Amino acid sequence: MNKQHLITDIQSHGLKLIEHETGASGRKGGAGPSDHKAITIDNTTVMVPIFTSVAADSPYTARFDAATEQTILELNGETISSIDFPTQPNFYRLATADGIPYWKIALLHSRDVLATTVLQTCMRYNDTATSCQFCAIGQSLDADRTIARKTPDQLAEVAEAAVKLDGVKHMVMTTGTPNTRDRGAAYLTDCAKAIKARVNLPIQAQCEPPDEFVWFERLQNAGVDSLGMHLEAVDPEVRSRIMPGKATVPVAYYFEAFEAAVRVFGWGQVSTYLLAGLGDDLDTLLAACDRLIAMGVYPFVVPFVPISGTPLAHQPPPKSAFMQALYQQVGRMLDRHGMSSKSIKAGCAKCGACSALSEYES
Ligand code: SF4
Repeated sequence: MNKQHLITDIQSHGLKLIEHETGASGRKGGAGPSDHKAITIDNTTVMVPIFTSVAADSPYTARFDAATEQTILELNGETISSIDFPTQPNFYRLATADGIPYWKIALLHSRDVLATTVLQTCMRYNDTATSCQFCAIGQSLDADRTIARKTPDQLAEVAEAAVKLDGVKHMVMTTGTPNTRDRGAAYLTDCAKAIKARVNLPIQAQCEPPDEFVWFERLQNAGVDSLGMHLEAVDPEVRSRIMPGKATVPVAYYFEAFEAAVRVFGWGQVSTYLLAGLGDDLDTLLAACDRLIAMGVYPFVVPFVPISGTPLAHQPPPKSAFMQALYQQVGRMLDRHGMSSKSIKAGCAKCGACSALSEYES
């Protein structure tokens, strides 16, 4: 099996840990795709589902071999290769002056990305009539693994330490959606300003489309290098079933916002998550990707991972054959337009660890 296929397959099936390794980047709950753990296969670090019911039945297992001191990846009991888990970063040992551990403020994702959810609450989350059914933003807060609001100063302090002590290369700042018309853009602006005043670290901000597109300029002036506004799903029926609150923001408004954001951040510096497996069929996803790429937006296609404790905990993830077909065609579209994850300054699409898409770019 080649690497493209292996990463696609293991992200669909998940990984069962036989001999539990403790790595830095396991994430139980949180905003966005979660219940993952970072593993490195043949120099590529990817996030794979570990803490899910699907992963518990996966044909892929990781077993620690005490004789060679290596972790061995197996498929149906047959050895495939050795794998590594990123080690715990140094900045996790530090705490702010008022005693908050840095790891409650931001986490290391993959190998060199600092990631944080600046506001760990969302106006849509506490009511099933509005919440996104795949989202677990409240879980890590309930479990005291994070704090509700990271201040700009706290983020700047942690970002500086993560660059100095662990060599992080870029930062992702996402947010739960506050009940304000800017949809969190104002707070992300304050956070970016404070971080950039302290350390030169490329930043991606992620939020819903704000009411006024002048926020894109304000974000950029504050030091945000690239922007994510996440559709997650495109078919109106799927959107209203899976994310009834977010679905009240029409897809057409996202596209208006994309157009305005590309004018500010540049071609290929704006991206959107598309979660394959929520219900959109292949043609719908491909048509959306085609339209997005043509206007300068990178479609970050990611397999949906059912997170324990969410309403979709038992919805099966997409089949590996579906993801392969999707990646192959989106990869060809990206190549045709000369768009590449490598050219993105910061963010999830640059990191790429939650998807196999970058493996399908030329
Ligand atoms: S793709 Fe985004 S969410 Fe996934 S590991 Fe990278 S930074 Fe984190």
